[in-house]
Amino acid sequence: MSTTTYNPYEIAQEQFDKVAAKLNLDKAACEFLRQPMREYHFLIPVRMDDGSVKVFKGFRVQHNDARGPAKGGIRFHPQETIDTIRALSMWMTWKCSVVDIPLGGGKGGIICDPRNLTEREQEQLCRGYVRQLARNVGPCQDVPAPDVMSSAKHMLWMLDEYETIHGAKYPGFITGKPVGMGGSLGRKEATGFGVIYVLREALKNLGIDITKTTASFQGFGNVSQYAVRLYQQLGGCVMAISCWDEADKTAYTFRRKDGFDINALTEITDAYGTINKEKAKELGCEVLPGDAWIEQDVDILIPAALENQITIANVNKISQQVKVILEAANGPTTPDADQVIQDRGIFLIPDFLANAGGVTCSYFEQVQCNMNFYWEKDEVLQKLDVKMTSAFKAVYELAQTKNLNMRDAAYVIAINRVAQAVKSRGWV
Ligand code: NAD
Repeated sequence: MSTTTYNPYEIAQEQFDKVAAKLNLDKAACEFLRQPMREYHFLIPVRMDDGSVKVFKGFRVQHNDARGPAKGGIRFHPQETIDTIRALSMWMTWKCSVVDIPLGGGKGGIICDPRNLTEREQEQLCRGYVRQLARNVGPCQDVPAPDVMSSAKHMLWMLDEYETIHGAKYPGFITGKPVGMGGSLGRKEATGFGVIYVLREALKNLGIDITKTTASFQGFGNVSQYAVRLYQQLGGCVMAISCWDEADKTAYTFRRKDGFDINALTEITDAYGTINKEKAKELGCEVLPGDAWIEQDVDILIPAALENQITIANVNKISQQVKVILEAANGPTTPDADQVIQDRGIFLIPDFLANAGGVTCSYFEQVQCNMNFYWEKDEVLQKLDVKMTSAFKAVYELAQTKNLNMRDAAYVIAINRVAQAVKSRGWV
């Protein structure tokens, strides 16, 4: 599915405007909250292994920091756009707010394809990114993290560059660091597990027994792999998983109606979430076209890959059996498709609530860095479960009492909190 047809920033603004009107926010507050407070655009020259210099384009967007330092990942993607990052930074503000952690919203990106870069080139790119931003990010300003195609290894290089520039240790500058180097146990599981904690609560409220459900996932990267794992542990059956295959320049859907052996599947998946097609066949998987994930006769659809994946062009392919759509990715549903989903009465759990586990655990990582005392994994995951469950309950209750859909209810809670912070500070 093309990601160029829809502009995520326009979608994020459209979603905001709709809720701002419901909340009767004044004109200045609306103007202030519907766009980022700050943006940095810069070039990163990197000397490549062959001796040539390649110039990469980088961005950092700080949407809002009224409730605390901006927080958000750094994406590495060849088709990255500033509008995608603007939208994602805005969604980060609402995400931190809906789970009630004291952080604002930010996002960054580099237009690049790390799959085609050597380790040394990737390191230079990470260090170059931080050199451009060193004065504008930091534990009390803006705290980056891994995101699409970036990882703990990249975060540590970025931290090292930041500490070299500032001449001291600042483990709270960046999250998603390797465990033992300031990272938190549970961070790699956090987003995927958080998605499933929320699903578990939703199914309880909908009166659906999780052990009798089936699901289809789009994507098999960090988020999806742990979500699949926990969902299966809770008794659910994953019937289909799709992923992108860079060698073939297309996506495939892998289907196994009896469910997947998650350990076997992760063993044949590379670091970018691409499942080896030939080896998958040996594990008894059918290989279907990339968009087949959305057409499966399952109870739950979990888009966990990229934005703009459920659109007006494919929303009607969703099976009548689907009861829940769980937005694990950021911005996977376009507004026109969202309307069709609502009209069909499918229970949709919005992205900034569903995938808030990652940032919540990043917040725990910062807390641990500040204390210089690290919790056991069970303690981290248990605290995460408490946060995600209470955020879900607050949104669900508001949706019920005010007759709102889950996306609007989550927005009402999140925007209200940020608007309040902006007003209390006397900004607008
Ligand atoms: P990742 O890079 O680890 O994995 C992405 C997966 O999507 C890969 O399996 C890739 O093959 C697949 N994919 C890409 N294009 C596809 C296509 N057209 N069809 C099918 N599959 C495709 O990324 P991730 O960290 O798992 O993030 C996934 C989504 O979740 C993104 O929207 C990201 O912004 C969001 N998110 C991630 C985190 C986190 O902690 N990693 C937190 C919050 C939100």
